[in-house]
Amino acid sequence: MTTNKTFTMIKPDAIGNIGAITKMIEEAGFRVVAMKKTRLTPAQAGQFYAVHSERPFYNDLCAYMSSGPIVPMILEKENAVLDFRTLIGATNPANAADGTIRKIFAKSIEANAVHGSDSDENAGIEGSFFFSQLEQF
Ligand code: UDP
Ligand code: MG
Repeated sequence: MTTNKTFTMIKPDAIGNIGAITKMIEEAGFRVVAMKKTRLTPAQAGQFYAVHSERPFYNDLCAYMSSGPIVPMILEKENAVLDFRTLIGATNPANAADGTIRKIFAKSIEANAVHGSDSDENAGIEGSFFFSQLEQF
């Protein structure tokens, strides 16, 4: 079942571009359901990215993701998960299509500007990591 929702966060490297990135997201037809500026501890970053705990980049990723503020958001649109992955582009900005958020704003494969959920199920899990039901409008 599709929820028509996805989850994103603006990562520490892109925190100076909150306005520009959110504008691209809204102009692409997504509605912001929940949004805040916050910060992860290294342990919280490790929990969020637990699925990658066996990967060689995991420790660096957790250090990076706790190095500065982030802006998590829940977004709504028809076909949200797949359309958002298209809007952000490939994980490595060197491979991201022109006009995508990562192509425009990412610094590296690690500091790649934004997160995007890879499934409806993970969008729900990731959104709940940051927001209660009462914070979603
Ligand atoms: N990442 C990294 N090195 C890699 C692959 C991924 O540092 O070789 C980081 C990057 O920040 C990426 C995150 O780990 O966004 C999660 O990786 P995933 O493969 O899930 O990429 P995504 O779904 O974010 O495109
Ligand atoms: Mg992923």
